[in-house]
Amino acid sequence: MRSSKDEPIRIHSEPIANPFRHEGFPMSDNQNFDHSVDLLIVGSGAGAMSAAIRAKDLGADVLLLEKTELYGGSSAMSGGSLWIPCNHLMAQDGIVDDTPEEAMEYLVNITEGLVPKNKLEVYVKNAKVMLEYLHDKARLNMFSMPGYVDYYPEVPGGKPGARACEPHRFDARLLGDDFGKLRGLALQELIVGRISMTATEAHDLLTGAPGYILLALKVGIRYFLDIVGRFKSKRDRSLTLGNALVGQLRLSLLDRNVPIWLECPFEEFILEDGKVVGAIANKQGKRIRIEGKKGVLLAAGGFESNDEMRKKYLPSPTQADWTCANPGNTGEVIEKGQALGAATGFMDGAWWGPVTVVPGEARARMLVVEKGLPGSMMVNSKGERFLNESAPYDDICKDSYNRNSDDAVTVPCWFVFHDPFRKKYPVGPFYPGMPISKALKQSGYIHESDTIEGLAEQIGVDPANLAKSVEKMNGYAKSGKDTEFARGDSAYDRYYGDSTVEPNPCIGPIDTAPYYAIEIYPGDLGTRGGLEVDADARVLKESGEVIEGLFAIGNCSAAVMGPTYPGAGGTIGPAMTFGFVVAEYLFKE
Ligand SMILES: Cc1cc2nc3c(=O)[nH]c(=O)nc-3n(C[C@H](O)[C@H](O)[C@H](O)COP(=O)(O)OP(=O)(O)OC[C@H]3O[C@@H](n4cnc5c(N)ncnc54)[C@H](O)[C@@H]3O)c2cc1C
Repeated sequence: MRSSKDEPIRIHSEPIANPFRHEGFPMSDNQNFDHSVDLLIVGSGAGAMSAAIRAKDLGADVLLLEKTELYGGSSAMSGGSLWIPCNHLMAQDGIVDDTPEEAMEYLVNITEGLVPKNKLEVYVKNAKVMLEYLHDKARLNMFSMPGYVDYYPEVPGGKPGARACEPHRFDARLLGDDFGKLRGLALQELIVGRISMTATEAHDLLTGAPGYILLALKVGIRYFLDIVGRFKSKRDRSLTLGNALVGQLRLSLLDRNVPIWLECPFEEFILEDGKVVGAIANKQGKRIRIEGKKGVLLAAGGFESNDEMRKKYLPSPTQADWTCANPGNTGEVIEKGQALGAATGFMDGAWWGPVTVVPGEARARMLVVEKGLPGSMMVNSKGERFLNESAPYDDICKDSYNRNSDDAVTVPCWFVFHDPFRKKYPVGPFYPGMPISKALKQSGYIHESDTIEGLAEQIGVDPANLAKSVEKMNGYAKSGKDTEFARGDSAYDRYYGDSTVEPNPCIGPIDTAPYYAIEIYPGDLGTRGGLEVDADARVLKESGEVIEGLFAIGNCSAAVMGPTYPGAGGTIGPAMTFGFVVAEYLFKE
């Protein structure tokens, strides 16, 4: 297997041009255009890059447009996992227990008949091809995670691990100056806001797995041993998660001389006889006409950062500051597609997850791990539990919306925990045992009391109810069985449990003062609704007719996974796969 430390591969012998130092706009034969390429891609996330790499290798001239000053979008901020059934990396690890039939059975079951079967088939067939191609021919360097269960492992076709893959660490120095233009990871994915960890390391660190203190030391020492890097900046140059993924893909584009124009938002489509033939973009204040001879691919993310669109489409209440995702994803590209007559799908959905909004932080933080660890619970405005806190993060928010009522408010709800929990696990912005800053205490962000009743009064829930919920939880901690919500029953729940806690790694007593509570909202990793597409990612009208020349992938298309989240990597896996599919559709002979 190639390592990120290898010398860069140059597919072209000429030196790499700096794509950010673009001078002028070469005129195409068609004088109506300022610039002309075979495939014009709007957006610079992992899906866009996968499409660009494959298209370039098939001989196409490609250009990516990125609205913001940084490339990578939410893909760069993300965990970087890809959910790839039957991936070749399983076989390398000696885990080959997966078949396309099982993957299809699983997807058909969990998508509840809301996604055409042919789209799922295209995914199952091409996801592994895409992964292997980018491994062999480009710089992608991933491994499968044998223990990372599908999110519904008990559903027929579900697997106890290995479909989710994550990137190996990647040396940022290989990107040269381009490193500075790579959007950073979400704050919650960095130790003390700066030290990187892989998903596998994060799992062990956050769940307090045996050896986690030693691991924390190792990760910290590695960071400080990059002495040159420390003199340059705080940013860790050993990239992990979404930064490693997008870094590896960006290097693959540099190898191929594929440019990304930053701060160059798409504004409008250019049409010819009803066919999309290009787009108008804004380059340094100048509107320019760019031809996409074979097509325009929309890979511009969802509308999670657009308050108005959230209020129009998502369940209520909702707010843009409940998203953890890229601020540039504001949905105007979806709206422009709608204006062309494109149909949309799953606009009322997001890749949900319970979030905490920390004063002074730019993005919300999602409670992926801590929500299900022992010694904690979530309660509604009456002080009663209302769900299985260890369930997949997507389901927590669906339940929060479904169970929300005037009588028992679950949006927002409260995350309640006790002192040993605070000392052992990270919670939102708090590292294990580290003192809570005065500012956060004074802001009212966190509530603290020596008694459960005192805490109940502070957060405005019924003290007797909260005490009863705690008492029940303490009983479940002894028996190991949550008879109300089955917390810890699924293998998924236990993946994020504390393996040192018995009899149920997800349930512990809440019995040691001080007691704490923080408010939780139904946030997201991005929205999942967008332009309706067929199995080749061609954009469709309500009538089912194709809009010629227009393609959409990722979160600006209606999610291939429909209403569900199959496993870690269930959003970027499809974005990259269908990007690859578009390139093959357009350019493969
Ligand atoms: C903290 C976090 C962790 C996550 N972890 C995972 C994970 O491990 N696995 C997984 O599968 N998913 C994960 N997700 C979700 C995942 O990151 C997104 O669903 C996915 O990256 C969306 O890809 P995309 O290509 O649709 O959009 P993006 O990657 O966001 O790319 C879209 C790009 O288009 C740009 N853009 C927007 N409008 C315009 C315009 N008008 N003109 C030009 N450019 C424009 C945006 O600025 C952005 O850079 C995570 C998300 C977050 C926030």
